[in-house]
Formats: sequence, C-alpha cells, structure tokens
Amino acid sequence: DAVVHWFKMDLRLKDNRALWEANETAQAAGVPLICIYLVSPEDFEAHLTAPVRVDFMIRTLHILKKDLTALDIPLYVETVEKRKEIPDRLIEFMEEWGASHLFANIEYEVDELRREAKMVRTCASRGLAMELFHDSCVVPPGALSSGSGKQYAVYTPWYRTWVAHIHENPELLTTFEPPSKNPPGARDKVAALFDCDIPDTPENKRLSKDDAKRFHALWPAGEHEAADRLDKFCEEKIGQYSKRRNFPAQAGTSSISVHLAAGTLSARTAIRIARDRNKTKKLDAGQEGIQTWISEVAWRDFYKHVLVNWPYVCMNKPFKPEYSNIEWSYNASHFTAWCEGRTGFPIVDAAMRQLRSMGYMHNRCRMVVASFLSKDLLIDWRMGERFFMENLIDGDFASNNGGWGFSASVGVDPQPYFRIFNPLLQSEKFDPEGEYIRKWVPELGDIKGKAIHDPYGRGAAAQAKKAGYPKPIVDHKESRDRALSAYKAGIGRD
Ligand code: FAD
Repeated sequence: DAVVHWFKMDLRLKDNRALWEANETAQAAGVPLICIYLVSPEDFEAHLTAPVRVDFMIRTLHILKKDLTALDIPLYVETVEKRKEIPDRLIEFMEEWGASHLFANIEYEVDELRREAKMVRTCASRGLAMELFHDSCVVPPGALSSGSGKQYAVYTPWYRTWVAHIHENPELLTTFEPPSKNPPGARDKVAALFDCDIPDTPENKRLSKDDAKRFHALWPAGEHEAADRLDKFCEEKIGQYSKRRNFPAQAGTSSISVHLAAGTLSARTAIRIARDRNKTKKLDAGQEGIQTWISEVAWRDFYKHVLVNWPYVCMNKPFKPEYSNIEWSYNASHFTAWCEGRTGFPIVDAAMRQLRSMGYMHNRCRMVVASFLSKDLLIDWRMGERFFMENLIDGDFASNNGGWGFSASVGVDPQPYFRIFNPLLQSEKFDPEGEYIRKWVPELGDIKGKAIHDPYGRGAAAQAKKAGYPKPIVDHKESRDRALSAYKAGIGRD
C-alpha cells in the first residue's frame, strides 16, 4: 500500500495543504508517501506556458527531488506527451505501486476542474480514493458573497469581505508543515523510484543557451529562494511599498509573482509573514506598506475567485459580455512593433523590452502596455493576453486574464471604457527622470530631460532618428478618439 501526492502548481514542501494531508495519511497507515510530477509538452502548449516558466519549473523539480530524497520520499517525474493521457497514467501508476490514495491541490481553470472531477469518479470506480484540496488561494473560491448572496465582481467590497473573513477564520493562515521522513521499511518498498531522472525541458519549450544563462541568474528557482526573497523584501522594502510600488525604475516590489505562480511559495505564507510584521496583527490596519502589499496579494485571490464564478472567462470571452462585439484592428505591423518594443512610445517600448529580456514586467507598465495595445492600437486584447502568457515567467491565467480585462475595460473594472491612459502622462508621472526608459531603450540614453518621454515631439527628433529609434506609430489623440468610437459602437451592436 502507498499514498501518492501529485504535484502541479504547488512545487514546494512547506505549507502545501494536499502534501500535508497525504503525509498525515501515509504516516498514520505506516505506508510510503510517493510524490509524482507529470511533464506534458502538449499541456504546456495548450496553456501557452512560456519557455522561461517551464525552465523554472524543471529547475524547481531538481530542488524538490533533492529535498524529498532527504526525507526518503521519492519524486517520480515522467513525460506524458498528450495531456488527456495524464489521468490514466496516474491511475496506472497508482495500481503499479499498489497505492490506494491520491492527493492533489485544486486548480481552478475550467479544463483542470473538469479533468479532476472526472478523475475523482474514475478513481472511485477503480476502488481508489482521490482527495482534492483548496490551497492556492488564501480564501477558497465560493466562500465570500455579498449581503444579497451574490458573488462579488468588484474588488473593493470583495476585499473588505475577504479581510473580515480571514479575521474571523484565522486558521486560514495556518502553516502546513513539510512532510516527515518515510519510515525505513516504507522507503525500501519504493526504493526503485529514487532512480528516476528528471527529464530535460521539452523541445517545444527549450531556451537558447544565452537566455538560459540570463534567466537562471535572474530567477533562482525553488522554495528556499522564494522564502529568502520574501524575507528580504519584508526586511528591506515592505515599509516603503506603498510609496514606491508604482515607479518601475525603483525595485520597490517583491518580485515573488514567479514563486506564487509556480507554487514555490504559498499565498498563505506570504500574507502571514507580512502580517506578523505588523504590530496590530490585522490585515487592514497598522503599517501602511504592509497593508497595501497584502491588498495586492489579495488581487491574486480575487481574480481566481472571478474565474471560478464566471468560468466563461477561460473561454476567450470578456467578463462583460457587452464588449464581445468591438471591431478590433488586426494591424499586423502595429502588433509586431508592440511585441518588439518599437512603437515610438518610449515607456511602452521600455516595458516590452523588459518583458522580453527578463520574462517579467513591472505592474504599472503592464497596465500601460495593455491599455496601449487595446485602446491606442485598438488590437484585440486577447492577442496581448496571449503574448504575455508566452513570455512571462509568472504567467498565471487568472491574474493575466484579469489584468488584461481590467486594462482593456472588458473585465471586472467598474471604471468606464472612456477612461483611457495617456502613455505620455503615465511616463512622466511614473518614470519622471526617464531612468526606466534609459535602461531598457539604451539608444535614447543620451537624450536629456523631459524629451526622453517623447523625443520626436519634444525637440530631440534628430537625436532619436540618428539612434534609429522609430517615430510614434500612432497619434495618441487620434487613436483615443478612434477607440472611443469603436468601444461605443461595439456596445451598441448585438
Ligand atoms: P508585488 O507588487 O510585490 O505584489 C505581490 C504579489 O501580489 C504579486 O507577486 C502577485 O502575486 C500579487 N499581485 C500584485 N498585483 C496584482 C494584480 N494586479 N493582479 C493579480 N495579482 C497581483 N501577475 C501574475 O502573477 N501573473 C500574470 O500573468 C500577470 N499578468 C498581468 C497582466 C496585466 C495586463 C496586468 C495589468 C497585471 C498582471 N499581473 C500578473 C499582476 C501584476 O502585474 C504582477 O503580479 C506583479 O507585477 C508581480 O510583481 P511583484 O511580485 O513584484 O508584485
């Protein structure tokens, strides 16, 4: 007999609900705990998982395997080409090893939920037990509703309820301890599984040597790194977070999204550690930086709740159905210019180049480039959403879809579509000295003063031209008017 934990987006030992439950069950029965991870190239393709993200997961698996081996727990990793073969392979594996129980944390995207619901039934029909747990959100989806019993579609009232719910249920921030050592007899029964190697990154997601070198230095993998990063942020930066978080040139944010996305850090741990530094021990009182940071981590929960309550957002549909009929422009050269950071809008170009170079982009800039694509270029926001997923190391369906919906005014944003970002004003406000632009668009490095935000419009045209920097591909005022009419007409169309 044995118990199996199936790792997915929860690549950590510490504070992992299903793993903890699996360990408890195995220890109580005196049987071995086995861990498994299935690599599916087709699944990565279907989810548009960025190569940099796949690489991060594979690197994390090596760390996980080492840590588990020290506990005499095997981590078995296998490539399963087709995603639909995953359930059968898991069941076959369990039967091979005489395992009676399968444990996993729930993933909330529609395909995954359906798959897991089906697996529970299949397991039951084969005399096996599958247990699924809420783990990735601090408050499980479905737990919060408004006074009238409805699910929230607006962040601020949702957030108030979220905070109150955690205050009333403090056990939601409990830490789940890592598994304990497999007993010696139990270890021997599964000894053959320790020999398994972790496969290389699948060919369809492999990084070039140069990219791999750069990304490995930027984004060390695994849960120990996640814990160190969080501690360092809390020690050095959280106090100033609310003042600095919007300025991309200042490294004022935590950079832990990659860890929350891969599950090398649990959101519970993140919030609890931040809260414990707050003298009041409340989420929404005390030190301002801490409160603000917690309210940002809460956005991640919020978007997962939205996805569970309105699952059609997983199906390429906007949250607000009335925005389904906007006539988008499919201007391929504009889209390419946006992807490559050659739009002639320095803040947009800097941000897109940061994304390509780091697999990451600052939140303020994500909003700026998303608004620019959907409003200034009037390009279908789903093309941008897709491009982000294909390039982000922290790509997370719910947060990305939510962020795009918000920025393109088709999502859970109560602001009307006619609030359109002016990229120039955003640039002046959030990169006042042009430091961020100079870092990522080095050909503008010599341009002095405010001209950096708009070299062609502010007297640095000759310099920009000489440096090979493109002219703006659109005129903001004209494209703003065009977006307003297209959105208005779209809403009016049936
Ligand atoms: P911090 O400011 O330190 O915040 C801490 C954590 O809170 C983040 O790691 C993240 O998990 C969460 N968080 C913060 N802001 C948001 C937010 N607006 N929405 C959801 N969660 C948030 N975040 C992703 O993790 N994956 C994505 O694919 C993603 N795509 C986005 C697309 C768009 C168009 C926009 C506007 C935002 C997107 N975000 C996404 C949210 C946000 O930009 C990143 O989470 C943040 O920049 C990560 O940096 P950090 O860890 O330093 O954040």
